[in-house]
Amino acid sequence: MLIVQKYGGTSVGDLERIASVARKVAAARDAGHQVVVVLSAMSGETDKLLQMAHTMVAHPDEREIDMLLSTGERVTIALLAMKLIEMGYPARSFTGRQVGILTDSAHTRARIERISAERIRASLDAGEIPVVAGFQGIDEKSDVTTLGRGGSDTTAVALAAALKADACEIYTDVEGVYTTDPNLVPHARRLKKISYDEMLEMASLGAKVLHSRSVEFAKKYLVPVRVLSSFKDAPGTLVTKEDAEMEQVVVSAVTYNKNEARVTLMGVPDRPGIAARIFGPIAEARIVVDMIIQNISDGGLTDLSFTLSRSDLIPAMEIIRKTAREIGEREVKVHEHIAKVSIVGVGMRSHSGVAARMFETLAREGINIMMISTSEIKISCVMEAKYTELAVRVLHDAFGLGEEPGAVSEE
Ligand code: ADP
Ligand code: ASP
Ligand code: MG
Repeated sequence: MLIVQKYGGTSVGDLERIASVARKVAAARDAGHQVVVVLSAMSGETDKLLQMAHTMVAHPDEREIDMLLSTGERVTIALLAMKLIEMGYPARSFTGRQVGILTDSAHTRARIERISAERIRASLDAGEIPVVAGFQGIDEKSDVTTLGRGGSDTTAVALAAALKADACEIYTDVEGVYTTDPNLVPHARRLKKISYDEMLEMASLGAKVLHSRSVEFAKKYLVPVRVLSSFKDAPGTLVTKEDAEMEQVVVSAVTYNKNEARVTLMGVPDRPGIAARIFGPIAEARIVVDMIIQNISDGGLTDLSFTLSRSDLIPAMEIIRKTAREIGEREVKVHEHIAKVSIVGVGMRSHSGVAARMFETLAREGINIMMISTSEIKISCVMEAKYTELAVRVLHDAFGLGEEPGAVSEE
C-alpha cells in the first residue's frame, strides 16, 4: 500500500516526539508499505513566528509572512529525515517548492492549484521515504506561499490525491473526530466514521481537527482519510462517503467558532446596487464574509449586518468606512466578541423540528440568538462569545451526543 501520513504540531512538538514519529513511520515501512510523510511545524512555532512579525512591524507584508512561516516546517522535516536515516531507513526531506506544490498568489491563504509530485514519485521509486513540509507551496512567480492556519492537512490530502495513495492518515493529539471538541466537552464521543459533507461543514464551522480545504480535496478525489492519535494505538475516525447508516443520525456533531466579529451598517439606503457597493470592495480585498442579514426597510432606509473572521476586522473596517462615506449611511457598529455555534448532521435532511429544539435549548439557558443561518445539513446560531462553552455543552446533551456514563466502547 501507498500511505500518506501527516503528523501535526503536537505530534512533532519536541525532539523526543519526532523520534517517536520516526519509529511509527519505520513500523509502517517494516509492514511493507510505501510511506510519504507530511509534517507540521513544532507546536507553537507558527504562532511564535507570527508574533515576531507583528512585533517587528505593525502591518507585516504578506509575502514576507509566508517566507517567515514556511521556515517552521523546514525544521521538522529535516530533523525527521535525519533521524530516519540514522535508523537505517533511506529518507529525504522536501519543501513545497521541491515537491511542486503550485498555488495561487493569495499569500497567507493560498489555494493549491496543481501538484506535479515527480520528485516524490522518483523518491518512492528509489525506495526512499519522502518527508514533505506541510502548509507551503509556491506561486507562478516561484514565491513561497502558505495555505492558511492548519493547512498541513491539505498538503497531505492533496498529495494523497495526486499520488493516488491507498490511504491518508492524519495523526493528531486527539483520538479522532468527536461529536464536539473533546477538549471542551470531556464526554464527547469519538465517531467511527463521518461523511465528507458533514466533515466539510464541521471543518468550515470551526472544528479544528481537519483543515476545511483538505476535506474538499478528500471529497473531490474520494481520498479515504483516517484521523488518528499520534500517541495511542486506536482505530480513529474514517472520513468517507455517506451511507444509509449515517442518515439515521439527525445531529452528528456540535461545532463552534469564537473568532468572529459582527459589523452592522445602520440607515443604509434601500435601493438596487447597494449590497454590491458594500460587499464588492470587501471581496476584492479577499476578505470572506460569512452571514449577511438585512432588515425590512423603514422609510427607504435599512440596517445590514454581517459576520466575518475577527482577524479580518481591521482591513474590513477600513474598506467599510470608505464605502460608508460614499453611500452616506448613518452609523457603523462593531461587535468584536461573537461566536457561532452550529449543529451538523446529514439526518437533518429527513427530520423536522431540529431547529426548534436547538432554539429551545439555547432559550432555556437564557442565551440570546443574534443571527441564524441554515443549510441542508447544518444550523448555526451567532451569540455573544461568553456563552460559547455553555451553548456547546447544552446542545451536545440535548441531541444525545455524549458517551453514556460508564459505557464500554465497542472496539
Ligand atoms: P494538529 O496540530 O495535529 O493539526 P489541531 O490542533 O489542528 O491538531 O487539531 C486537533 C484539535 O482539534 C484537538 O486538539 C481538538 O481540541 C480540536 N477539535 C475541535 N473540534 C473537534 C472535534 N469535533 N473532534 C476532534 N477534535 C476537535
Ligand atoms: N504550522 C501551520 C499552523 O500552525 C500549519 C499546520 O500545522 O497545519 O497553522
Ligand atoms: Mg491542524
